Amino acid sequence: MLLIDCPYCGPRPEIEFRYGGEAHLARPADPSALTDEEWATYLYRRSNPKGRFAERWRHVHGCGQFFNAVRDTVSDKFACTYKTGESPPESAAAKNAKPENTEP
Ligand SMILES: [Zn+2]
Repeated sequence: MLLIDCPYCGPRPEIEFRYGGEAHLARPADPSALTDEEWATYLYRRSNPKGRFAERWRHVHGCGQFFNAVRDTVSDKFACTYKTGESPPESAAAKNAKPENTEP
């Protein structure tokens, strides 16, 4: 069984978690200023890299908190987990991870 390290609770079985999509997506400050194409891109277009990828997860059957994780999409191994609003450690660089805090 795969264990996921919740940054709030510690390691727990994967069945306690839900995938929440790509991490570090910032909502546009003024959506009404965007074109329909730009808005559709923000809403629907996501990265799908082969390798390390920063993702949002939620510990739904535990603390209920959202957090981020860097996971290798090939091996399914988690490089690290970190709280929402934090940056991932440099040692766990992901293709879509941003060094600055871009989440609300
Ligand atoms: Zn938790």
